[in-house]
Amino acid sequence: MKIAVFPGSFDPITIGHVDLVLRALPLFDQIVIAIGVNSQKQTLFPLEQRLDWLRKVFEGEPRVVVDQFEGLTAHFCTRIGARYLLRGLRNASDFDYEKTISQLNQIVGDGIETLFLISQPAYSHISSTIVREIIKGGGDASPFLPEGLSVR
Ligand code: ADP
Repeated sequence: MKIAVFPGSFDPITIGHVDLVLRALPLFDQIVIAIGVNSQKQTLFPLEQRLDWLRKVFEGEPRVVVDQFEGLTAHFCTRIGARYLLRGLRNASDFDYEKTISQLNQIVGDGIETLFLISQPAYSHISSTIVREIIKGGGDASPFLPEGLSVR
């Protein structure tokens, strides 16, 4: 079975993340959206909330699984038998960052390949960081959030 792991913080999930998963789904048998838990990293939303949102958004898609992991992404992939990572590229700074991580994962993960999808123009300005700023500032972030997801 061809399994891809889509790792991230998803703090919170945006329509950019959803688009990426839906576009990648024809390429894999299963996509595991996995929240990397890092106790040092402060998030706006608690882990359980972020997992719930992911599960809700993809409840109608049996080939999308939601999970969490601690430690290295590559080790998580090995544990669940995934040979692929999925990541999105919005701009050149995403590329510079992702390039290093992907090269590292190929070594640490014993040949794990990272598949990159370029974000759609309509989504390339959307990030969880921007969404968090809007929420913190008391604005309405709903244009960037999956339908039916109420974040406050
Ligand atoms: P991290 O904390 O690892 O940056 P994120 O949850 O912010 O994780 O993002 C996870 C992945 O989703 C990254 O590969 C990022 O490039 C991708 N991504 C985020 N927003 C978008 C978007 N608007 N369009 C395409 N890909 C995106």
